[in-house]
Amino acid sequence: MHDIIIIGGGLAGLTATIHLSKEGFDVLLVEKKTYPQHKVCGEYISNEVLPYLESLGANIKDIQANQVTRFQLYAPSGTFIEAKLPLGGFGIRRYTFDHYLYKLACDSGAQTLLNSKVEAVQFKGDHFEVQVQRQKPLQAKIVLGSFGKRSTLDKALNRPFFQKPADYLGVKFYIKVDFPNDLVALYNFEGGYGGAVEVEDGTVDIAYLTRHDQVKKMGGLQDYEKQILWKNPAFKTLLNQSERLKPTLTISNISFKPKKQVQDHILMIGDAAGMIPPLAGNGMAMGIHAAKIASEVVSDFFQKKMTRIQMEKEYQKKWSQQFAYRLFWGRHLHRFMGKPALSEFSVRALQKMPFLLPPIVRQTHGKLI
Ligand SMILES: Cc1cc2nc3c(=O)[nH]c(=O)nc-3n(C[C@H](O)[C@H](O)[C@H](O)COP(=O)(O)OP(=O)(O)OC[C@H]3O[C@@H](n4cnc5c(N)ncnc54)[C@H](O)[C@@H]3O)c2cc1C
Repeated sequence: MHDIIIIGGGLAGLTATIHLSKEGFDVLLVEKKTYPQHKVCGEYISNEVLPYLESLGANIKDIQANQVTRFQLYAPSGTFIEAKLPLGGFGIRRYTFDHYLYKLACDSGAQTLLNSKVEAVQFKGDHFEVQVQRQKPLQAKIVLGSFGKRSTLDKALNRPFFQKPADYLGVKFYIKVDFPNDLVALYNFEGGYGGAVEVEDGTVDIAYLTRHDQVKKMGGLQDYEKQILWKNPAFKTLLNQSERLKPTLTISNISFKPKKQVQDHILMIGDAAGMIPPLAGNGMAMGIHAAKIASEVVSDFFQKKMTRIQMEKEYQKKWSQQFAYRLFWGRHLHRFMGKPALSEFSVRALQKMPFLLPPIVRQTHGKLI
């Protein structure tokens, strides 16, 4: 019987693993893949998480993360506005960052099961039974669900969002290009938007979000990029001047539908609790912050400061206090970004009223944790 089983070792699951094992709990992390691994992600992380990461022994200087202080937003015509990022952020490959946190998790005394897919979780009154592929069932008093945006476990748990259409597709690749290393840029185009940021080795991460049907209509990704992304002259110039590195990674069936933060007594963290539209919010920082909130209530539960039901309610309450407004705001930004006329109008309006941009950027970032 473990104290805690954490399902999924992305940023949220790894952070909770480090936090709880440093507090002396018996923690088992179960991850269906291994490390290091590439992920489809814009790889810009808000600095709001730095104090908390440092308290866990993680210092981004160890991995030479690239510091970012400026933000540019491009309308589909290529016209843009710029703002200083109030807290700033950093660019780092998930390949590097997740692997770094995984090593810290092992050093903090956690047990890990890699290449192991969880197929089902059942609550048995006072503990959980966790069924891992090709293994005997595991048992734990607490389970944290950090299995990301969409997992077969969502289906097994019968989560309503899983039944609804998930129209979005995420694409990521790296380029070699002369790009300011203190900048994160966001480019709008018809039906989607993409970001660019330099990561630790000097290459630039390009990640964009679009709809499946649009790519299909154009006959595939290559044609879609040429016909739609390149309509934004700024994006076209950047991509045209660059050397594109292989591979191009994609992730499909992305949904921004609301999710429950506690389901079948499992505390959900990261994208499993609710996904903010990428580039319109800071999904990674939110995942790390949710891991902190969940770890704190779990710790209180083990110290008998609250019952299981109180812990679940407290987690739900704190999660909503922190993220409900941010998600609401992120979904609104996301709506205007794929619409050429609306995003063109907004960027031009912001050019005339530049003082409005920093408060908007602030809504997409949290406070230092
Ligand atoms: C195109 C795109 C661009 C983005 N850009 C940014 C950005 O620039 N900045 C930002 O902050 N956020 C960005 N995001 C969002 C960010 O990637 C996510 O919010 C973040 O990865 C969430 O972390 P997580 O730990 O919840 O999930 P993940 O990192 O997805 O980790 C989930 C883990 O669970 C494992 N897993 C799944 N199912 C099982 C199972 N059944 N058993 C065991 N393990 C399982 C998976 O293998 C995976 O390792 C972007 C997202 C997309 C799609």
